[in-house]
Amino acid sequence: MNLSFHRGDPDETVLENYHRFCDAAGFAFDSLIASAQDHHTEIRRVTKADCGIGIWRPRDRESVDGLLTDQPGVTLVTYYADCVPLYFLDPVHRAIGLAHAGWRGTVAGMGMKMAEAMERAFGSKPEELLAAIGPSIGPCCYEVDQPVAEAFAAKMDWRPENFIKNGGNGKYMLNLWEANRRALLCAGLLPERISIAELCTQCHADLLYSHRASGGKRGGLAAFFALKEASACQN
Ligand SMILES: [Zn+2]
Repeated sequence: MNLSFHRGDPDETVLENYHRFCDAAGFAFDSLIASAQDHHTEIRRVTKADCGIGIWRPRDRESVDGLLTDQPGVTLVTYYADCVPLYFLDPVHRAIGLAHAGWRGTVAGMGMKMAEAMERAFGSKPEELLAAIGPSIGPCCYEVDQPVAEAFAAKMDWRPENFIKNGGNGKYMLNLWEANRRALLCAGLLPERISIAELCTQCHADLLYSHRASGGKRGGLAAFFALKEASACQN
């Protein structure tokens, strides 16, 4: 199901897809808040007052690649079609973050910036965060040109030898999962608290939207992330 409003489907069709997905997965349609992604690293803290933005209310900002909240019942939504979804959970302060990281966001340190933003907003300690790196283009398929490879090679403290391979002819294979994992380790996250889905969008273009596999003729995947409302059985 296409969950992007900007890929050629009528808005009412995309909204119907949101309703169907929310019903199936247990999210409240009214609770959704979408990003406004432009491959930068702006992060926005949202609350219930922001619900609907980018879905059933107009966008009110130009550049939001990361969302965070500590309010249960607020569903963060971000978009993908090869780029990397980064999920963050602080189980101590009960807060979440969700960030979009393509190669530009990854090399600009989106993961580290989200960890810092959660610390500022909620007092989250990096070593207490759980992080997940979601489905996105894998090291099997992600070929890049020299300028992109050089931008990552300059991140010496991320140990780029672990995620860039020279393929010859000025082409390089880039492992965005490992680059993001290394960035999160540098931010102070613990290796045992970082999960990688290891699901490549281009290899699984029958199930997932892949910008590269489709040559740009595609819909949009969305990541959803919310804290549950406290249940009665906790009392
Ligand atoms: Zn692949």
